[in-house]
Amino acid sequence: IVAVEGLVKRFGHFTALNDINLSVTTGEKIVLCGPSGSGKSTLIRCINHIEKHDAGRIVVDGVELTDRMADINSVRREVGMVFQSFNLFPHLSVVENCMLAPMKVRGLSRAEAHERAIGVLRKVRIHDQATKYPGQLSGGQQQRVAIARALCMQPKIMLFDEPTSALDPEMVKEVLDTMVELARDGMTMVCVTHEMGFAREIADRVVFMDRGAIVEEADPETFFRAPSTERARDFLGQII
Ligand code: ATP
Ligand code: MG
Repeated sequence: IVAVEGLVKRFGHFTALNDINLSVTTGEKIVLCGPSGSGKSTLIRCINHIEKHDAGRIVVDGVELTDRMADINSVRREVGMVFQSFNLFPHLSVVENCMLAPMKVRGLSRAEAHERAIGVLRKVRIHDQATKYPGQLSGGQQQRVAIARALCMQPKIMLFDEPTSALDPEMVKEVLDTMVELARDGMTMVCVTHEMGFAREIADRVVFMDRGAIVEEADPETFFRAPSTERARDFLGQII
């Protein structure tokens, strides 16, 4: 569902991504890891076309991302994105946060959007908070609402950029549990995370990046037990 070929992304003279090749098939779960500054967020942002790439090809759901694209939104609405900071609309209640995009972008009626939102909120077990405002929720709850909001668009793939790294330790698990459940439901996922337990549990593939390149790709068992590069060994030594 995603094909990245020869991707290059520069910021001025600095090359943030250099010849990245990555394909994600439907239903696949990929964990992206690597040191700070290695280009993980930039890669995720290129896949969602928040950043424009300088060379190479990115195809999402059969559509190539180019800067001439007439309708980037038609691609982007198939891609759900969850960030480290939850980015909820503070002036909207939980359920309204979840209803907005389906009404605006998918053309659902208020009633349809409400029904869908409550269903998804129930799935992430937070429907009892539906009428509250983001500021009244814990960080973990806000992040689950952010996941629910993305799911209400019924995306074909979900991209996560360190969704638990801004959370207090006791809230990390509830968010990871939600993500594990999503994985078990068959969602296609690309997750930037250093939660290695999570990676072990759900990843089909761990992709390790360093200095703008993919240095190593392996199934989690192999990657954690016997990383084949020195850089991956150093990295694992630091985070475990
Ligand atoms: P972290 O683990 O800290 O989130 P990361 O792997 O996500 O790191 P990126 O945010 O993708 O790293 O950044 C990769 C490199 O690109 C970094 O050196 C960063 O300074 C640079 N970079 C990212 N965004 C920009 C920007 N808008 N302008 C200039 N440089 C940028
Ligand atoms: Mg990042």
